[in-house]
Amino acid sequence: MEDVLQIKTVSKHFGGFTALSGVTLSVMRGERLGLIGPNGSGKTTLINCISGSLLNDEGDIHFKGEQISKLPAYQRTRRGISRSFQIPRPFRSMTVLENLLVPLSYVRGITGRQADEIAEDILKGMGLAYKMNAECSQLSQVELRKLELARAMAAKPELLISDEAMAGLAGAEIDEVLAILFSLNEQGITIIMIEHIMQAVMAFSQRVVCLDAGQIICEGTPKEVVANEYVQRAYLGD
Ligand code: ADP
Ligand code: MG
Repeated sequence: MEDVLQIKTVSKHFGGFTALSGVTLSVMRGERLGLIGPNGSGKTTLINCISGSLLNDEGDIHFKGEQISKLPAYQRTRRGISRSFQIPRPFRSMTVLENLLVPLSYVRGITGRQADEIAEDILKGMGLAYKMNAECSQLSQVELRKLELARAMAAKPELLISDEAMAGLAGAEIDEVLAILFSLNEQGITIIMIEHIMQAVMAFSQRVVCLDAGQIICEGTPKEVVANEYVQRAYLGD
């Protein structure tokens, strides 16, 4: 299978602090990749560098064979990279449907009736269509998480990066979000899942990468990564 994303020796510094150091990683088209690591290990920073919220200081990022590391975020979105945020960022005064019309218009230039129909389809896929006319302030935690994924999907991504979409959710809600991500992957979307909930990320991922202090310390099948002594040490913190 072909690599859709290639990250080559990417580093990112904040002042004197190194948040990412020489990260090299390829993601295959259609893959389900899990990204784990303790708090502060650089997961969100890596996603920010891929999506363009931040520019990496060293290294290269290629998407579909094109160097994208210097492109602004909106141009990466237009090329097919979309991400959800760890802390949901809906337009709070808008309805659920209106929240999807923004990326539909801005990223894909689709407006009017056609945009309404696409937005409704996406919301149906998320099991959120029944709330399409609700204001975001009326949504529960799991509904906000689904909206966050729906907003990312409105950009019609080929690569979807989900940053802790299950944080703060419990039992059945985790399974609901997991099922959504599986179904998006079945539609051909490559997915990088950042997740603290081990059961979820291990059930979802074909391959798992573990970051610690800005470096990849282990990569393999869920089974291999769970059994790895560096991963266990990073999580047990000794
Ligand atoms: P994770 O998502 O794995 O919890 P982050 O990527 O958010 O970790 O953060 C990695 C490290 O980089 C942390 O120590 C964090 O404090 C630091 N960091 C992240 N973003 C910034 C920023 N914009 N300015 C300064 N430090 C940052
Ligand atoms: Mg994070």
